[in-house]
Amino acid sequence: MIPPGRTIGVLGGGQLGRMFAQAAQSLGYRVHVFDPAKQSPAAAVADFATCAPYEDTAALEEFAQSVDVVTYEFENIPAAPLKVVENIVDLLPSPSVLHVCQNRWREKAWLRANHFPHAQYTEALEGDILGAAEQLGLPCVVKTADFGYDGKGQMKISTPEELAQAAAIFRGRRCVVEQWVDFERELSVICARTRAGETRTYPAAENLHANHILDVSIVPARVPASVEAEARRMAVSIAENLGVVGILAVELFLTKQGELIVNELAPRPHNSGHWSIDGAETSQFEQHVRAVCGLPLGPARARNPTVMVNILGDAWKTRDGSVAEPNWQAILAEPAAKLHLYGKPEARHGRKMGHFTVQGSDVEAVLARARQLKARL
Ligand code: AMP
Repeated sequence: MIPPGRTIGVLGGGQLGRMFAQAAQSLGYRVHVFDPAKQSPAAAVADFATCAPYEDTAALEEFAQSVDVVTYEFENIPAAPLKVVENIVDLLPSPSVLHVCQNRWREKAWLRANHFPHAQYTEALEGDILGAAEQLGLPCVVKTADFGYDGKGQMKISTPEELAQAAAIFRGRRCVVEQWVDFERELSVICARTRAGETRTYPAAENLHANHILDVSIVPARVPASVEAEARRMAVSIAENLGVVGILAVELFLTKQGELIVNELAPRPHNSGHWSIDGAETSQFEQHVRAVCGLPLGPARARNPTVMVNILGDAWKTRDGSVAEPNWQAILAEPAAKLHLYGKPEARHGRKMGHFTVQGSDVEAVLARARQLKARL
């Protein structure tokens, strides 16, 4: 066990690292953030921060030597720096988990080899989208094998014209091409797992996306209890098979036929788990701290129906050439709502700037209220 008072290292300085650091500090840990960017949201709240490129081996060694355990807040970390860290201190979830989850080829192959349901797909080694699409049929979606998130490096192909465009865009790049799933709902389950193999899942979140970016998460998901139970069972089984120590987020599609299909895995706190800060007995961030430090896991029940809404840079309106802050008053004046902002200096299109949650006793009423508040931002 790594007791409170020790230092946790975090690779990556975005909002996930920031909320992780805040949870760790509440338990009395110190946090050291490593990020190539000068002013990162996590570094702003951390006890220690190193600003250096991931290729800077000397800086990474110094970082690893100064902490008691290292975790990460995003998957797109190159393999070489991970080796440097791993030779000095525990990196959790383990590099082998990250290796699978940071590349869509390996992730899909892992799901296939371990018999977890997934969308039919094919690998396009040199970006041969035409050959892949011929096998799968249209519509399909092409995704770059690595360094993709929030719909970046992704394109839905519905028409022969789009197929020709995609073939040109992705030529020479390693991709997976997946069959388009005509889903009923998108769900995600956050599962925590300790070194000793204890697991705990959060209630499934129902996720609504806009332009491939998460827009709203709804807890409880509006699905039958049997679907919820199966989604949670699947998440535990994936976490166990992968040997995750920490948090694993499992994104799922529920098909119109009532079947659950795994879309993506993320071995870290996840945007669709942000509701848990206000809405669950233990937040996903605290749970991640507990799991990587070898503390007992906390209870993960939802206190109330909770809806989380992402606030993107698009909420900053430009009027007469000057940029206006969103109407925070609308959210702050609502007793059932909580506002979380990530301290990012520049509001860009599609950039996650913060989120808010709304709680209540009835999920439909909470969702309606959240939508009203979003419209008033
Ligand atoms: P991903 O980056 O794989 O999580 O994809 C982002 C979003 O794009 C998902 O949450 C879905 O809304 C949509 N999407 C991705 N893959 C598929 C698919 N095979 N079928 C239908 N929708 C998809």
